Amino acid sequence: MRVVRKISELQIHSNSSIGFVPTMGALHDGHLQLMRRSKEETELSVISIFVNPLQFAPNEDYSRYPRPLENDLQLAESVGVDVVFVPEVSEIYPNSEPSTKICVPDVTDRWEGVHRPGHFDGVATVVAKLFHIVSPNIAFFGRKDFQQCMVIERMVRDLNIPVQISIEPTVREADGLAMSSRNRYLSPEERNVAPRIYQNLLKIRENICGGGNVENSLLDSRKALSESGIILDYLELVDNFSLAPLKQNSEGTSLIFAGKLGSTRLIDNIAVS
Ligand code: AMP
Repeated sequence: MRVVRKISELQIHSNSSIGFVPTMGALHDGHLQLMRRSKEETELSVISIFVNPLQFAPNEDYSRYPRPLENDLQLAESVGVDVVFVPEVSEIYPNSEPSTKICVPDVTDRWEGVHRPGHFDGVATVVAKLFHIVSPNIAFFGRKDFQQCMVIERMVRDLNIPVQISIEPTVREADGLAMSSRNRYLSPEERNVAPRIYQNLLKIRENICGGGNVENSLLDSRKALSESGIILDYLELVDNFSLAPLKQNSEGTSLIFAGKLGSTRLIDNIAVS
């Protein structure tokens, strides 16, 4: 496995199909599953490990975001990654901040776009840069970050970026908690509460699909999660493409959640129909 820190050293002279998995590191099985899919679908698998300052607001966890690089490299090697790109911030943003930023409207108007202003501009900008640097044929993203997937798909379509986007299912712990690099911030007590998020998503889906009232199901779970100590940002049924909230179920919908458990912000979602 090649570990590359400079864009100039990355030049991949390859006639092989290239798979790409952008990450911020602190790798877990959710990330590794994307790498395994890249191995299955393409001939050369490249990943990036880059904690992107542009997608963090000043009050967020940029400086304390975990960076266990040695362990990450071992994990990447264990699944057969060919190239790991680990740039310094100055390699990606030589002038501290880029003067050109990518803004993807509409899909960012709600949810994470409101609760994390500027976040998706940072994500879209760095992913576009990484796509240009790596030139992958297929890039792999996790459904766990549902709105992010919509943003990337929209950006690629709007800007005719020649890459196929493959969205992979959320990988969960045995108790249902969606794997996340941020789960390691949870205290043992918070870790015990966290699986209730997925449990409530499943319960709402069961209610709705059994003909139950959408708003009442959402209200019940919002109340239950708040009583467990979770400060909700949102828990909604949305249309998969517009991300608009729905009061009734229809074709192509998902339940989306975001909230804080102690100082840790968690997100999750499941498909409904
Ligand atoms: P991150 O390192 O958090 O920026 O995530 C890098 C990629 O891994 C993104 O495409 C995420 O959606 C994906 N990812 C993170 N957690 C999971 C998970 N539990 N299951 C599947 N994909 C995930």
